[in-house]
Amino acid sequence: MYPYINIHSHRKTEEKNEIALLNYILDSCSPEESINANEGGFFSIGIHPWYIPQHPKQALEYLNRLSTHHSCQAIGEVGLDKNAVTDMSAQEDIYIQQLKIASKQHLPLIIHCVKAWNEIIAIHSAYHPEIPCIIHGFRGKPQLAESLVNAGFYLSFGFHFNEESIKICPSHRLFLETDEDLRPISELYEAVSNIRQCSVNELKIQCFDNLRNLNKKLQVSLKGRTFVEL
Ligand SMILES: [Zn+2]
Repeated sequence: MYPYINIHSHRKTEEKNEIALLNYILDSCSPEESINANEGGFFSIGIHPWYIPQHPKQALEYLNRLSTHHSCQAIGEVGLDKNAVTDMSAQEDIYIQQLKIASKQHLPLIIHCVKAWNEIIAIHSAYHPEIPCIIHGFRGKPQLAESLVNAGFYLSFGFHFNEESIKICPSHRLFLETDEDLRPISELYEAVSNIRQCSVNELKIQCFDNLRNLNKKLQVSLKGRTFVEL
């Protein structure tokens, strides 16, 4: 049986049949204890534009070190947010530094973006990252979805989505996530499979394949999972 892939979550899953990337926000406190308590569960970690620490240089060094952890599967959520208090040039600087860390470790990037789509696309065109870049919690309209897909981004949808954008997202660029929502990911798969007129199982297979294709580290880690038929 294929697992549900949950590409971005802030809660530890109780579901056996779910692979979730638990997100840690790197701010002033050290998440190492929680990471070790998560017993090899996959995680992503990054400096969120809302929580830029007082000493970003130190935080970036720390992130660089944590990115080599065997269960670290992505850098994120990182990004640009015009509602955040930190000015945009500082946000862009920290975003680019994290993009570089992800590229160095061949890890995908999980992106938080609010009202800064032009900036995100411009940075992407300037740096041409070879790593997969996933826009998380995408709620935008189909026109924006199309521009982002054409620019090379993956789209991850949570419970608040635009139906038309779900319909037009190419299968090989699609992810689903619970983010901060407490509802089970299976509910979201159900809703999205109805919109895309496919079965839940087809959707699970597609998201699983997409996850496996994100990076080599994931392929290796997934091989050890007994519930997955590879
Ligand atoms: Zn989140």
